[in-house]
Amino acid sequence: MLRKENANINPSVIRQISNNINSIRKDIERSANESELDPAGITLIAVSKGQQLEKIEAALITGQRVFAENRIQEAESKWLDYRARYDNVELHLICPLQTNKIRKAVKIFDVIQTIDHQKLAWEIAKEMEKQDRRLACYIQVNTGEEKHKAGVNPSSSDGFITECRDKLGLNIVGLMCIPPVNDNPILHFAMLREIAKRNNITNLSMGMSNDFEKAVKMGATHIRIGRAIFSKSQ
Ligand SMILES: *Cc1c(COP(=O)(O)O)cnc(C)c1O
Repeated sequence: MLRKENANINPSVIRQISNNINSIRKDIERSANESELDPAGITLIAVSKGQQLEKIEAALITGQRVFAENRIQEAESKWLDYRARYDNVELHLICPLQTNKIRKAVKIFDVIQTIDHQKLAWEIAKEMEKQDRRLACYIQVNTGEEKHKAGVNPSSSDGFITECRDKLGLNIVGLMCIPPVNDNPILHFAMLREIAKRNNITNLSMGMSNDFEKAVKMGATHIRIGRAIFSKSQ
């Protein structure tokens, strides 16, 4: 729903973004149908980090409402403005969060996908209470156990989930993973699905531009797409 001034966006940019989004939606639908899953249960998250403002606004104009960012500062300036002009925006945080940025993150975002250690979980819980904002939270799992990647190790995930829920009262709605670049992502998506299943967690944030169709087939509920929306030209 447009309010206030309609931004002056080049129609060809709107057409390009709209085509990209529609083509991804078709791919999601096809992959879901092939696995007898309901495509309506899959949310397309537009990862707008580092993208030109014109393209992000074009996505908003075409009706896209769920976005993700990975820099607090960048997200703050952009989304304060967009939220003032577009209704029902839902903003996800998808990068490791430093404890000194938690206050801002809780203020700006609707969903935090990257909870992966005790201190962070604890501080987030405290800040949410302080601001009286109960954000939806995901736990990031380092399914490939990569040294330099964020996420809780698979072997510690059950305990960590329990702690976040029962001790800290966090609203854990999902799990998120980023498979290692050179691995078959299917194995990682399957592992994430298993961890979610045995912990009664519904949402699976998995799949990016290169592998989202595989993620959909493995039961992703949220796919995070950057380049295929914003950097692809017809
Ligand atoms: C950048 C990013 C994406 C989007 O990746 P694309 O390959 O551009 O689709 C998804 N998830 C995370 C965590 C990211 O940092």
